[in-house]
Amino acid sequence: RWADWAGLLVRFLSGGDPALAFRLSRVPDDLPLGSRAESFLEERDGLVKPEEAPALAIRILDDLGDLISFALDPDFGTVRYAERTASSRAEFGPVSEAADSGYLMREFYRPWLRGEFRAPADSPTEDARGAGPCPDFVLLTVPFPGCLVGALAAAREARSAFGPGTRIALGGGYVSTELRCLRDPGIFRDVDFLCFDAGYGSLASLIEGLQAERDGLPPPPPYRTARRASDGAVEYCGLPPEPGTRADSFRSVPCPEEGRFAALESEALRTNFPDYRNADVSGCVRAPYSENPMHRIWSDAPWLKYQLAYGCYWHRCSFCDTRLDYVRRYLPSDPGALFEAAREARRRTGLSGIHFTDEALPLPGLMEFARLNRAAGRPFSFWGNVRFDLVWTVDRCALLAASGLTAVSGGIEIATERGLAMTGKGFTFPDLVRALAAFKRAGVLVHGYLIYGFPGQTPGDLVDSAEAVRQLFAAGLLDSAFWHRFVLTRHSELYARWRAGLEPDLEPLDRSGSFATNDLEFRGSVRWDPYDGPLETLLADWMAGRKLDRPVRRLVAGGPGPTLDPDHVEVLARAAAERPYDVEVLPSRPRVHWLAGLPALAPGDDVARIEWFDRGRPAGVELPRPRAERLAEAITDLARRPEGMDLEEFLAAAGAAEAGGPGDSLPAALRGEGLALV
Ligand code: SF4
Repeated sequence: RWADWAGLLVRFLSGGDPALAFRLSRVPDDLPLGSRAESFLEERDGLVKPEEAPALAIRILDDLGDLISFALDPDFGTVRYAERTASSRAEFGPVSEAADSGYLMREFYRPWLRGEFRAPADSPTEDARGAGPCPDFVLLTVPFPGCLVGALAAAREARSAFGPGTRIALGGGYVSTELRCLRDPGIFRDVDFLCFDAGYGSLASLIEGLQAERDGLPPPPPYRTARRASDGAVEYCGLPPEPGTRADSFRSVPCPEEGRFAALESEALRTNFPDYRNADVSGCVRAPYSENPMHRIWSDAPWLKYQLAYGCYWHRCSFCDTRLDYVRRYLPSDPGALFEAAREARRRTGLSGIHFTDEALPLPGLMEFARLNRAAGRPFSFWGNVRFDLVWTVDRCALLAASGLTAVSGGIEIATERGLAMTGKGFTFPDLVRALAAFKRAGVLVHGYLIYGFPGQTPGDLVDSAEAVRQLFAAGLLDSAFWHRFVLTRHSELYARWRAGLEPDLEPLDRSGSFATNDLEFRGSVRWDPYDGPLETLLADWMAGRKLDRPVRRLVAGGPGPTLDPDHVEVLARAAAERPYDVEVLPSRPRVHWLAGLPALAPGDDVARIEWFDRGRPAGVELPRPRAERLAEAITDLARRPEGMDLEEFLAAAGAAEAGGPGDSLPAALRGEGLALV
């Protein structure tokens, strides 16, 4: 039964055969059910509406995943493989073994890879070796631990299909984060190179090295690349030594052309974007686990992925990997080039939603992308990760929302004044409330990342943070959130401070591994174990809109209660709503935009009313008729300009600068009713 249904369900969830919704809603007798599908049905007394069928279908597939991992391959997960084996794994042995011995690797993935490598797309029937020259490079990306074992399996099959003449390189977020102080050279049995950070410089240097070899010259040491030296040891080329590594355990070779490759990489980051050539998105499976609209953004649709900047413009949060290039080095992209690339990708894939995968979306780049989107008739909607600082004003959020911004996620971490200071967020709790209120007022969905177990955090801080989060949900300022247990990492500011003797209370435990070593254990972390369950339960209730009126009392038996006033957030949110423009810093020559519908002039002799709709809500002003006519004309002109208008120019066009005109009160009267000042 599982085998009969699996293909049907995958096809249904990837957009094929919509009629299956009606069959699923009848819960046919032969439908295979496990614990997830059963509890889904129980919650509905066995009755499923056709629109709930996707949620049932994904649970059945997850049940199948449970069955596979129980009966066939414990490493299997529906969206990752052997994640636990690869997560900050001190030794390479178990990872290497999983690529050969896992049931699914052996019986399914490796044979499939063999077929792919032996029958390339352009010569589907011929053996790759017989069909022509083998590729110069096979490039494998490992963004997360759950992709490592699969990538190693692919490397092994590529080696066997193409032989030693093809160079195999591994890069991506996992490599750049975890493998920077590798001592075990075992991985170089499978791959020739590890490419670090953005990867463009590394790849360019490898390609040039290959060309040099072909010209009979010795290839120079590459840029930001690790390889195995002739004596078998790991050698890092063009990469600075890792903090905390001894010189004798980290062999570093300078890249003679470091400056040139660094410049090439910066230019590539600015102007080079995924083109989605040959990307088939038709098989992407929707996974509507939750009714929460913010959660569904992650799993219920395929997105075009772009970055408006490489790195984070803030890069100062103490728990974050700010010592890593992909956080610390801030390089904005060219929004115009990005927009053109996205248009081309939209044409190729049919996708109109963009997920900006930035560490923290930069305001200037986002505003420019939004302007281009408005000018082109809003072909895209978009969302991404932000920092909840004061740059997100009411008017900017409104303009961005009117330009296609649908959702943001961002780090709150510890939702107290002390917690925000401790984690180096760089904004205060009132700033946070103000930024959240600006997004929510614009109708943008908001997700918050939270942490607990941070060194120096007390149970009192945590219960205050939990109560503040409840109040944020109750005030409608958050749509969803997730509590992460704090993880100390080798590349964090906190670890750097500990190494400098500035964190005497922190006690990292030495793990002295030889493979993936970014995550570090520290003394005292287990004291937070009892909080895992209670925090998860509270959050699940609040996200579902339950128990929002019940202040948090204590999180664990005998633990402290909150010290926060029950209306702490409400007071701040009210202040933000009553004085929405208080803390704005406008540029010396602000611009105005019209976000509402076109104005219509109501009949009247001396005094006329101009009316329009702002997000479905009627709005308007009354003015002496000649002024009203002029203002209506100025607004109509402004509405047609995606780039907006200089404020002074708009006021002049509206007659505000002339005697008897509405003067300075005009922007104030229209702001929030359709006019945005940025
Ligand atoms: S946590 Fe986010 S905002 Fe803070 S430094 Fe890291 S990427 Fe930047």
